[in-house]
Amino acid sequence: MAVDDHGECKHCKFDFNGDRIWDKGLEIHGTEEGADRYAESYGARKGFGRFGKQVYVKPYYGDNFKKGETFFKCPECGGRQ
Ligand SMILES: [Zn+2]
Repeated sequence: MAVDDHGECKHCKFDFNGDRIWDKGLEIHGTEEGADRYAESYGARKGFGRFGKQVYVKPYYGDNFKKGETFFKCPECGGRQ
């Protein structure tokens, strides 16, 4: 399910809210029908659902590539969320 408010960085207050997904779909496809299909694949719709600017981190450790705990990082200050 899409999110409409991604909040801000708890360290530097960087705004994590990106473009509305539907608006991006309209830009790419040029029609409302195309934008609807595009948004739907993200669980978004017209007026709801934004891309987030946080960086998703999936760490692997050591020679056996042991999986670490996933987390989000701020693209501005690099702070862990
Ligand atoms: Zn930050």
